[in-house]
Amino acid sequence: MSERIAIIIIDMLNDFVTGDLKCERAKNIIPNLKRLVEAARRHGIPVIYSNDAHYPNDFEVVHRWGAHAIKGTKGAEVISELKPSEKDFVVEKRTYSGFYETGLDPLLRSLYNGEGVKTVVLGGLHTHICVRHTAADAFFRGYKIIVAKDGVEAFTQEDHEQGLRYLEYVYNAKIMTVDEIIEEIAKRRE
Ligand code: ZN
Repeated sequence: MSERIAIIIIDMLNDFVTGDLKCERAKNIIPNLKRLVEAARRHGIPVIYSNDAHYPNDFEVVHRWGAHAIKGTKGAEVISELKPSEKDFVVEKRTYSGFYETGLDPLLRSLYNGEGVKTVVLGGLHTHICVRHTAADAFFRGYKIIVAKDGVEAFTQEDHEQGLRYLEYVYNAKIMTVDEIIEEIAKRRE
């Protein structure tokens, strides 16, 4: 595993877990992501939250999914179980990609004393939508990608499994369990 990694937690927001766009399967990954972010914080690895923060007239809201994660509402807040700590970073987005017209790329480049992050570890929702589009933009920018297979979820098992296969095949993402990632993180700092 690269020395300079960052954890990116995508859309673990009230609306996606319990609210307007509830994904029943999201609760499966909450304890795993909690262990992942806690391990990262313990080892000084940056934790970044990539959160939908929509305007009511965004395309996704009006034409596809209905109102969800509207900027400034309770639904757009990270679920209490995964509440960002003071040292974590929160980057808002208005599309499926955490990179598109957001400050994520400059943030990643600024970390590790300006040497920049080399590998992003992706977790959150949904395997085949926002995780996929964020992975695409990470890939185009030359980041290595790790996806926590028990730290991402989708509306159905099929969407989840196909999503993982696509990430592995198209973006060369390394698919690992949260425990494997934590083990690597612990080794890295010894
Ligand atoms: Zn959205």
